[in-house]
Amino acid sequence: MNFSELPLEPAMVETLDALGYKQTTLIQEEALPLILDGKDVIAEAKTGSGKTAAFGIGLLSKLDVKKFRVQSLVMCPTRELADQVAKELRRIGRFKHNIKILMLTGGESFGKQLGSLAHQAHIIVGTPGRILKHLNKESLDLSNLDMLVLDEADRMLDMGFIEEIDNVLAFIPEKRQTLLFSATYDNAIRTISKRIQTDAVSVKTTSTELPNQIKEQFYATQNKEETLIKILSEFKPDNVIVFTNTKIESKELAESLQSKKIDALAIHGDLEQYERNDVLVQFANKSTPILVATDVAARGLDIKELSMVVNYDIPHGNETYTHRIGRTGRAGADGIAITLYGSFESDKADEYQNGSREFLDESCLKGSTNFELKPQFVTLVIEGGKKDKLRAGDLLGALTGDAGLDGSSIGKIDIYDRQAYVAIETRFIEKAQKSLHDGKIKGKKFSAWIL
Ligand code: ADP
Ligand code: MG
Repeated sequence: MNFSELPLEPAMVETLDALGYKQTTLIQEEALPLILDGKDVIAEAKTGSGKTAAFGIGLLSKLDVKKFRVQSLVMCPTRELADQVAKELRRIGRFKHNIKILMLTGGESFGKQLGSLAHQAHIIVGTPGRILKHLNKESLDLSNLDMLVLDEADRMLDMGFIEEIDNVLAFIPEKRQTLLFSATYDNAIRTISKRIQTDAVSVKTTSTELPNQIKEQFYATQNKEETLIKILSEFKPDNVIVFTNTKIESKELAESLQSKKIDALAIHGDLEQYERNDVLVQFANKSTPILVATDVAARGLDIKELSMVVNYDIPHGNETYTHRIGRTGRAGADGIAITLYGSFESDKADEYQNGSREFLDESCLKGSTNFELKPQFVTLVIEGGKKDKLRAGDLLGALTGDAGLDGSSIGKIDIYDRQAYVAIETRFIEKAQKSLHDGKIKGKKFSAWIL
């Protein structure tokens, strides 16, 4: 679709053209007509699909530059993302003269922001924690807001911003247009949409781009552990669940992989509740790439994108098999499901032949058994949680402010009553721990350790 086919100001179309935006991207084509029509929209599309311009064009079209009030608010999970959004809005909005776009994020001087706010702004782009701080101090007035955008909503939920977002909403008129942008769409997104949007229309391009694809392979092997390592080295999956049929096997396999410098954690029925939680948190926040699990233990595990499932043994029946492998290949991503079987299991394996599953010998694998697998993140545990009024924004603020970490090196944040878990890129973990150890969060000292 050409931008000129949409009800946009000619100057906007010219600007887009000058930016090299000749045609809409898929998500812009789907979402823009609805946004321009004033609808609440949930838009789900992959990274790099042009979501910023999708809401940016809508938001700038509505804006009345003569009205010196904050008319739109865009909330983003990190300072870096807010910066990117503000830049894109300035690019697209350059045809509107005297437009004021202000960034309000943690890790920047609060006083300076107060000064900028005194001069009024049309559009605020920021992170939930800092926006809330300004609202509480009455330095920001959102009572004239027409449009609220949650960008990377899935990431904001992952980072534990739900409470801040809810609190910000109390300062915003109920009559408004609300847009929710996300790279994934799941229960958490549906729930928040129900709460903050009205008659939301959902558009997504991920499923039309690619149907769920699960590649299913079965390997005959005499040495399962060696074959598993070859598979990991060949496919290099980001995250894997390896299913075993027994608790003991899951524990022994995880230990054995660890001894070979392949990072893995086991989850089985013998773990205490807190141990189980530690393991699940670490797997979900990418601090361990491999989870070795029994069926019972993996129940209720909600991981959005799992690149691979391995059946270390032939599962007990088709239903278990289908349930296990259905955890990969979600949301249009490709998934791989691999089942290993020894010679004593070959009769059982035969029952899984269906024409489309590939049955191979482990000698087809090109991977090496000399392979190490390290996680992307390490988990920092902080001995403080909801009961201490710690919020995701406080932790993010302490780590990006005093500790000097980049927001992009911080992953998922989980906050429980008395503890918080923050995923931190491996190379920055010591810096983060040291600065939390030496410094304070919200004026209080909290002990922190690496899980
Ligand atoms: P997302 O938020 O979906 O990850 P972005 O909004 O960051 O993606 O856009 C990705 C890139 O695509 C940016 O460099 C942006 O300038 C460019 N882009 C956006 N819309 C168009 C368009 N209609 N034509 C060409 N490039 C576009
Ligand atoms: Mg984006």
